[in-house]
Amino acid sequence: MSVLRVHHLNGATLCPRVPARLLGQQGSARLVCHCLVLETARDGLIVVDTGFGTADVEEPGRLPGGFRALTGARLRREETLLAQLESLGHRAADVRHVVVTHLDLDHAGGLGDFPRAAVHLHERELQVATAQATVRDRLRYRAVQWAHGPDWHTYAETGDTWRGLPAIRKLRGVDAEVALLPMHGHSRGHSAVLVGHAGQWLVHAGDAYFHRGAVSEPPVVPLGLRLFEAQVRDDKRAWRASVTALRELRAAHRDLAMFCAHDPAEFEAMAQPAN
Ligand SMILES: [Zn+2]
Repeated sequence: MSVLRVHHLNGATLCPRVPARLLGQQGSARLVCHCLVLETARDGLIVVDTGFGTADVEEPGRLPGGFRALTGARLRREETLLAQLESLGHRAADVRHVVVTHLDLDHAGGLGDFPRAAVHLHERELQVATAQATVRDRLRYRAVQWAHGPDWHTYAETGDTWRGLPAIRKLRGVDAEVALLPMHGHSRGHSAVLVGHAGQWLVHAGDAYFHRGAVSEPPVVPLGLRLFEAQVRDDKRAWRASVTALRELRAAHRDLAMFCAHDPAEFEAMAQPAN
């Protein structure tokens, strides 16, 4: 088995100033940025999504003020993946690959902490993020987060499938079972990331949905997250098709553990015990 160990780490905390019940929560409203660090036999460390990075913490102005105010982004050095990896005894140079669901600012912030890693993603996501064609794109995609010039590796659907869905099963230079499952809609080149480990598939759905109720049967999503989702998604029809595909996958297969980026209950269920 080429993925030896999976760490579920929270790469950023968001505390939106809204009543918790609007997010289906109690107490104070809180969202996480669920990231993975994979210890592998042959590929060093592989990171899936990166939360905010050290430079975001040191220079909050890299993130738009409106975003910080709306989401209540907590910028803490100890929550960066780099700091958490170091506390696990690893170094930045141990990270040889980063796979990103998409390049929104709360997923790409840590890219600069792993400047020597190959960065794998859907080709359409990189095209749109780097084109910076609209004000909206310039707010969600922060070019400063990849100003160091990552070693990008991009992919498109070429006929390969996983469980009947278009997939990119083989990432360049990666021996471990890590794949992209295109789930466009939230952003134009958004993908879920699949990780084969211990006879099971982890399905990191990124921002394809925001609350676990979206992939339950019947789907039930708290009002605040439905409104937020409608604000930030790029293509409603593609987004709906993605959520439906994920819900059907989850219902049809017992060997999947599915989670999205921002649901704290899903994160806490996966994060303990470490496996
Ligand atoms: Zn996000």
